[in-house]
Amino acid sequence: MRQTDLSLKFPPSDRSWNRRALERLRRGAAGLLLICFAASALARSTKSASTLQQSSGSPTPQQSGTPTTAPQQPAPTQPPGPHPPTEADILKGAYGPYRANNHLLYYHLNIRVDPDKKSISGDVTTRFKMLKDDNRIQLDLTEALNVDKILMGAMQLKFERKFGAVFVDFPETLKKGHAYTIDFYYSGTPVQSGRFGGFTFGKDPQGRLWIFTACEGQGASIWWPDKDQWRDEVENMEISVAIPNGLVDVSNGKFMGKTDLGDGYTRWDWLVHYPINNYDVSLNVGNYVHFSDRLGSLPLDFYVLPEDLDKAKSQFAQAKGMLEAYQHYFGEYPFKKDGYKLVEVPYSGMEHQSAVTYGNRFENGYLGRDWTGVGISPKFDFIIIHESGHEWFGNSITAADRSDMWIHEGWTTYLESLYVEYRWGKEDAIKYLNGYKPKVQNLYPIIAERGVNANPPQDQYFKGALFINTLRSVVNDDAHWWKLLHDFYQHFKYKNIMTEDVVAYFNQQMGTDLTPIFNQYLRHTAIPTLELKFDEAAGKVAYRWKVDEPGFAMPVRLGAKDNWQMIHATTEWQTIKTTLKKDEFAVDTDHFYVNVEKE
Ligand SMILES: [Zn+2]
Repeated sequence: MRQTDLSLKFPPSDRSWNRRALERLRRGAAGLLLICFAASALARSTKSASTLQQSSGSPTPQQSGTPTTAPQQPAPTQPPGPHPPTEADILKGAYGPYRANNHLLYYHLNIRVDPDKKSISGDVTTRFKMLKDDNRIQLDLTEALNVDKILMGAMQLKFERKFGAVFVDFPETLKKGHAYTIDFYYSGTPVQSGRFGGFTFGKDPQGRLWIFTACEGQGASIWWPDKDQWRDEVENMEISVAIPNGLVDVSNGKFMGKTDLGDGYTRWDWLVHYPINNYDVSLNVGNYVHFSDRLGSLPLDFYVLPEDLDKAKSQFAQAKGMLEAYQHYFGEYPFKKDGYKLVEVPYSGMEHQSAVTYGNRFENGYLGRDWTGVGISPKFDFIIIHESGHEWFGNSITAADRSDMWIHEGWTTYLESLYVEYRWGKEDAIKYLNGYKPKVQNLYPIIAERGVNANPPQDQYFKGALFINTLRSVVNDDAHWWKLLHDFYQHFKYKNIMTEDVVAYFNQQMGTDLTPIFNQYLRHTAIPTLELKFDEAAGKVAYRWKVDEPGFAMPVRLGAKDNWQMIHATTEWQTIKTTLKKDEFAVDTDHFYVNVEKE
């Protein structure tokens, strides 16, 4: 095994700061005045989020500028360890009372982009259904942007801002089960931030305007007002982007047409037919040229700079094979009515739903590198394969809290290996996955602190994928594994789930309790270590797991490399006979991501 296990331990979690901060927020939210009221009652069916537990494991590291979608190379130095979340973190991350009292139904983001002034202005129509009687809801908008007014019908609503939150108050109680619509007008100069720019007024290599958004880490409220959390999603959305004539906007969903506004601007209208994460919503404005293709009845649309057209026509042909591979394992592409798009951008890439943004230089590998270093990554374009995998894991199935983002990144990293297996076979897939081992750090648990907008560590990608591959070996029956994967996706598609939902599903389908295995890999820093004690004279070897998780038990293959023996190890010593000497005795660490200690 090439990875090291440093097993850093944190002191027990102190929840008192969390409670204190929540109390401060409640007090601050109390003294509000209300002006006016109007209501429309158009109840619609809702997409429900699954159970979201309030408890959590260990405190999590807070990492700024860490990977959002495509992983980065491990940082040479570690980020500082976990720290108590700030009041702003909790306000941003908690599914607080003024978020939980309603369920999103619909957004219309109507935005005007002024490249000369580097400013935006617009309004967001939000429709939501009340889940309890209340007279306040929480939306979010960065402090850097102005709230111009919030209307319900013709009536202006009062609001209170606190950090990035905007508490909207209603003069009369909104009734449980009724749907309401408000219009949130805002304006200002968005701040460029984060790894991919957040909202960027840029220029392409020819010096033409190139304006784009990518805000997974920071949240969509850096450029438009929304209920900026992961648990609740609208059922559908309209996006209208007004830009100077001659530019092209590519956003999410189906292109509905463009309208000349007569003032030098053209509005581009897009319709998203499906639930969508806030951070997936994007605009990409540039001098794009367009070409298209189809995969069966699925429209494929590609938008690139004119000088890149030939390279793109060649490189983007990989999209079809990618879609075929993922449809083979999981079922139909999730956003068929919206089509599948690739949109050129200057950063590496992002899984913007149905409009995946691409900046991988029209080359195989990842930004010119052999990403897992074993000669397989150069066979395909990492960004097309990885970011598009998120259409199934991240966009269709979404984590209900950022803490459990491995559901996006661990799974999508594993999907890369499924693409490799579909194209080049299992041996290459296993080799590709094991190429990820040197990137694993094992410094913090994969699952971060819940409800505080914590960013999970980079291990959610590589260790997450190696763990899922280990699970395949635990199942030890590929036909069953393929059915499990397919049914798991189908069961949870278009839903927002937590790790508990994943574990419960696998437990139920396997008819055995795999919880301790999930917990060891996801909620502790160390991977399991198989301890082996040899008695060569007696021809025996004793084995047991050294782990943190109580009740841990996991089968593993060991013995001779050409004749593996499956044993069911626990944390208690057991013994098997062997004719192998200590240095001949192997453990199948290519298929089980574990450490081995021999004595
Ligand atoms: Zn990703």
